[in-house]
Amino acid sequence: MNVIDKLIEHFRRFPGIGPRQAKRFVYSLLTSTDAYRKELSALILELKNDIAVCQSCFRFFAVNGNGKNLCAICADPNRDKETLLIVMRDVDLENIEKSHVYRGKYFVLGGGVPILAENPEKNVRTKDLLEIIKKMSALKEIVMAMSLTAEGENTEEYLRSILSPLSSERKIKLSTLGRGLSTGTELEYSDSDTLKNAFKNRS
Ligand SMILES: [Zn+2]
Repeated sequence: MNVIDKLIEHFRRFPGIGPRQAKRFVYSLLTSTDAYRKELSALILELKNDIAVCQSCFRFFAVNGNGKNLCAICADPNRDKETLLIVMRDVDLENIEKSHVYRGKYFVLGGGVPILAENPEKNVRTKDLLEIIKKMSALKEIVMAMSLTAEGENTEEYLRSILSPLSSERKIKLSTLGRGLSTGTELEYSDSDTLKNAFKNRS
């Protein structure tokens, strides 16, 4: 395999990238300057040095060398500890946070459960989620904020199955975002007003 083919294979691993797009990336790199490629490779190498996974919500965050293991949201004592909002990906959390409709805690699943997945617990951070919920003694409501896609709905169904026993035992309300979101909507692309309504109409 030559360098071009190897790079195409690497780009294909990115979410939503097919072979044709991967090839376009590589050809675009071929026409870029040495300086650009140098900077890109240096940034890729640096990426993990400055980024950590938050030990509460499990999102990626920039640590700036302060050695903290909690992100700014989780470290904020003023966040409402009675609500936990579960999203599939970091970008979903960022979008909801940007809309300012929510002041509680978050949990990032790290992906979704594909339809017919044989081991759904391996597709998302199941164990970490249950651990975090166990630690949240004041918890009153869990909001499942999934994308309105087949994968999102399947993930919601899976979450319901693992959280229902806990929810009835500890009297924690399990809710989902209202249907202000239209079918096929990825949460990361929803605007603030839509999110506001979806959050208000959760049930
Ligand atoms: Zn966090």
